[in-house]
Amino acid sequence: MNLDIQTILVVLLANVLATAVALPLLMGWRVSGAARLFQASMVTQGVSWAVFLIAPKVHDRALTSVSLGLLALSFALLWSALQHWVGPRPGRRLMWGLVAAMPIVYAWAYPSYPLRVGLSNAFFALQMLLICVALAWPAPHIGRRWRGLVLASFAALTVVTLWRGALGAFFTDAYPFYRATHPVNVAAVFLNHVALSLCTLGLLAAWREEAERELRRQAQTDGLTGLLNRQAFLERAHTLLAHARRYEETLTLFMLDIDHFKRINDQHGHAAGDAALQTVSQGLRACTRGGDLVCRYGGEEFCVLLSRATAGDALRFDERLRKWLVTMAQETGAEAIDYSAGIAVRQPDDHTMDDLLLRADTALYKAKAEGRGRMAGSPTGEQKELSFDLAM
Ligand code: GH3
Ligand code: MG
Ligand code: MG
Repeated sequence: MNLDIQTILVVLLANVLATAVALPLLMGWRVSGAARLFQASMVTQGVSWAVFLIAPKVHDRALTSVSLGLLALSFALLWSALQHWVGPRPGRRLMWGLVAAMPIVYAWAYPSYPLRVGLSNAFFALQMLLICVALAWPAPHIGRRWRGLVLASFAALTVVTLWRGALGAFFTDAYPFYRATHPVNVAAVFLNHVALSLCTLGLLAAWREEAERELRRQAQTDGLTGLLNRQAFLERAHTLLAHARRYEETLTLFMLDIDHFKRINDQHGHAAGDAALQTVSQGLRACTRGGDLVCRYGGEEFCVLLSRATAGDALRFDERLRKWLVTMAQETGAEAIDYSAGIAVRQPDDHTMDDLLLRADTALYKAKAEGRGRMAGSPTGEQKELSFDLAM
């Protein structure tokens, strides 16, 4: 087979540029930050290969330095995209330090062929290794297949890059020129082609996974408050209840309904009503603990499942929340939001959330009937009736 490295490089450039143009057309412009970084990485790589190809005809030292700097930048952009997709990974300073150092070091080392080939390939290999580490680092709930595909591509590229650097630096006679038709160059450019296709496929899968995750999140949360919606709450609450039954732990459902909420809407407008709902959700977030479930149950009703909490704990929670709302109102100069609440403590014969919800709802109704601005507990079996007048 008679392979001309320059021709393969031109084909590679055509591939990279076609991919760089196709990606935004396929994915659209209004994409996530990670997807945008991925697109930018591909465009930067395309420009870098174009500059690399014209460099010898214009000004080899300057343009090859720029081209290698751009290629290093494209790796850093890809690494940054991965931070969004797989989570924070070590090596940020090193990654961006290599981008800054690459063109400077290459231009400085240019007169010495072994030095410039050795150093530039070592820098690239380090960047690729950081990408491999980012992908191989444990990431629960993140797709293994696409990570494996991109990792395998970059691992192979790292090996060839190191091989190239070592030959250039220490066996210069055996590796005369990085544009020459030499087995290591042919292997490297071939691998670049394969890696480009596999990485593009893998990263498109990463983007799809991100979009699916976002859709799932949106399906589970309430758009206005960001809290869990009723369906997601009930699914999770079911698991918590089963857990509490099994380990005989206390569990208390706290249901609240804003008092005279219609008035807020009528007197101050719908936007003020929305803001009040957001304030209550903020308060709920601030006053709950890690294992508690908070949701917007509907309209101006919220539910909190307080794990390992007794009626007394629920009362303290209620006091905290009321205080929080009063303090917030003092800070903003707005009218304090008041609410009525009903609680239901888990009983041994509670099998489903419906049992708890029904009792909490009855208690809430009672709190409303008794004058609002208070918390009530519905009596069941041995549970003593609770009614706390917390109106201020
Ligand atoms: P009560 O003290 O008996 O609970 O009276 P209330 O006015 O709070 O209750 P009511 O059920 O009469 O009114 C609830 C209002 O909540 C009616 C509805 O328009 C409003 N509402 C429901 N969802 C939203 C929302 O997302 N935003 C706004 N601004 N209002 C909402
Ligand atoms: Mg209501
Ligand atoms: Mg209400």
